[in-house]
Amino acid sequence: MLTRRLLFRIAWPSLVASLLFLTSCAAAAVFLGMRQAATVRELEIDLDGRRIVDALLKDLSELIEIGLHGDGSEAGGSRVAELNEDVRRLLAESDAAANRPAEVGIVDRLESGFRRYREAVEAGGDVASAGAPGRAALAILETEVRQAARELDSEVAESTARSLAAMHRTASWTAWWLAGVGVLATIAGLFFGYSVATGLERAMIRAEELAAVGRMAAGMAHELRNPLTAISMLVQLQREKAEEEGLPAEDLQVIEREIVRMEERLNAFIDYARPPRPKWRTIDPVAVVVETLALLQGRAAKHRVEMRLVRPGSPITVQADAEQIGRVLMNLAMNALDAMPRGGRLTTALTTAPDGFVELTVDDTGPGVEPDALPRLFEPFFTSKDAGLGLGLAISERIARDHGGSLVASNRPEGGARFVLRLPGPSRIVGHGA
Ligand code: ADP
Repeated sequence: MLTRRLLFRIAWPSLVASLLFLTSCAAAAVFLGMRQAATVRELEIDLDGRRIVDALLKDLSELIEIGLHGDGSEAGGSRVAELNEDVRRLLAESDAAANRPAEVGIVDRLESGFRRYREAVEAGGDVASAGAPGRAALAILETEVRQAARELDSEVAESTARSLAAMHRTASWTAWWLAGVGVLATIAGLFFGYSVATGLERAMIRAEELAAVGRMAAGMAHELRNPLTAISMLVQLQREKAEEEGLPAEDLQVIEREIVRMEERLNAFIDYARPPRPKWRTIDPVAVVVETLALLQGRAAKHRVEMRLVRPGSPITVQADAEQIGRVLMNLAMNALDAMPRGGRLTTALTTAPDGFVELTVDDTGPGVEPDALPRLFEPFFTSKDAGLGLGLAISERIARDHGGSLVASNRPEGGARFVLRLPGPSRIVGHGA
């Protein structure tokens, strides 16, 4: 079962990353929002400026038009007064709206020009009729006021273009930023998902192993009880005699055998409970196989089992712990010999699979594995033998896994069992941790 502490230990990097993401997203959202609001404000001011300048230019043109064509009628006079008033109002508005130094300067010029125009009108330069601009006033209006109004117009146009460009920039920043966050979040999600998944898998394997160790402790107590009972009985019976003559040779033999048995079982138990870490080297698997089979010669001869080795087509190497690989082959071969008490053939073949893995196949001509037993072969303590401990295949399978490979059992169609140990080839170096 997963405790909360274990879950936290596995998932804390993703939690930290999520918090970082959240904080940076919030900061970026606030920053982009503020930027956007500022740009929109500028744009509003610019648009208002445009409206004022457009109206101003129109009024000035009309004023100049009236002055040039000398509309001396009364209606013309009141229109001029109306336009003058309108211009004065618009100037006041643009004075209030102007906020950039360039604009302020132009508006100042506009105001002073308009003031002088008014003074000229009042000084009586009036050529057309009362209220209509006279020549001198007209000249001021045309050269100074309208000129300045045109400058203001182009200044406001430029500033509007700048605001629009800033707005586009913010929009494209937002788009890039969102795309970047999307891509990063996806990659981070995949990465953390993967590491949490592998972390969980490792934790689960470890939990299973610990459960197995628990079962094993019970099994081991049972295994050790019989030899200990035998030894203690013998020792009790012979204690007095022993003081004079020593223990009889047969009894000593029994004691020795039982002690060896206990030792073997304890070693297997310790190997399973606390597996040694593989010592990685680039090794020649053929050499390992030849060495291991040589150790089995005598035993094979006793079983009348013929041993064959099928070598690979070309030299191969693997990244592995030679001693541990030798142990796996030893376990497989000993099981095969046990399965062929009346003789047979043990074939060991080394090949390279199309996916680059090196495969060590061990075939025998025994009765094969019971179909019911096949799915349980690699469970610790699974055995069909009277004196079996049932740890050989469990340990072998774990060694295969620690090497980044696998160990699979099957029955051959032509009879007999087949065990295939797959190891990553030299190009696929596995994580040397685990
Ligand atoms: P043990 O040898 O102590 O029983 P193992 O884990 O090595 O423990 O093997 C477990 C069981 O797998 C054996 O008891 C046997 O039933 C079965 N087994 C292993 N190898 C073979 C084989 N070559 N042919 C038939 N059965 C096998």
